[in-house]
Amino acid sequence: MIKTVKSFFLLALVLFFAELAPAQSTSKAPKIRTIIIDAGHGGTDQGAKGTYSTEAQITLKLALRLDTLLREELPSTRIVMTRTTDIFHHVREKADIANREKGDLFVCIHVNAAPPKKTITGYKSVAYYKGKGSKRKKYYKKVPIYKTSPNPMFGTSTYVWAADRSDEKAQGIIADDRYESSAEIMDVPDVNSPEALIKARLWSQKFFKNSVQLASMIENEFTVIGRKSMGVLQRNHMGIWVLQATNMPAVLIETGFITNQEEEDYLNSEVGQAEMTRSIANAILKYKIAVDGK
Ligand SMILES: [Zn+2]
Repeated sequence: MIKTVKSFFLLALVLFFAELAPAQSTSKAPKIRTIIIDAGHGGTDQGAKGTYSTEAQITLKLALRLDTLLREELPSTRIVMTRTTDIFHHVREKADIANREKGDLFVCIHVNAAPPKKTITGYKSVAYYKGKGSKRKKYYKKVPIYKTSPNPMFGTSTYVWAADRSDEKAQGIIADDRYESSAEIMDVPDVNSPEALIKARLWSQKFFKNSVQLASMIENEFTVIGRKSMGVLQRNHMGIWVLQATNMPAVLIETGFITNQEEEDYLNSEVGQAEMTRSIANAILKYKIAVDGK
């Protein structure tokens, strides 16, 4: 039974490549004809929260600006936004839009968050009771007093879907998203479905290298404008399931930490938004030249 299923996957994979191969070798048309920009979250899912802004608000502003820049600088490339207003899409819909529009590149924009820091500042005695009726007695126990303070974590990172994962690893994917909002770990399609496995294999073989290349270019541009880069990261993570579900090179950019006041201010500022979108656009232009030539 398992063997039959595996041969089916292999056959399907071969057919995928067979279908793709002629288009690559015979055509001189640019390979990057459509770029999908996804403003992370939206609507009822506002993502991570800062002191006065939400992730969904920032990602939409950045995505709209990036859209404008790319339309100006790549007039013969189709730029498709998954959303242009504050609306909610399930991550499945976002992936569907990207696939339906036949994107050649999928760029997701997000803002990171880190949980508040909890430190023990002292202890206090708390009374509790044990027993019933006349045996009821009062006891005391010491409990810690906590103080929470904002997490100072800051910097950018760009994610690609981990390509080295085996199917067994895929089965072990669990939702332990501490840094992203719970909305990102909501129900996503079964990573073990035949369709998901085929896509994962196709993705990892054909698109992984390109995704890493673009991700590195993006992080490099961020360091040029003085941002702290945490680099290109791989994660088998439900929060970035959308990268694995799209049939194209795909990156997810964490543009900074909304839980760090300085970065929340920067990402909401005119200068910050201009710098960040300029950097992402520069990286995309360089990537397009690398793939398509001048
Ligand atoms: Zn997010």
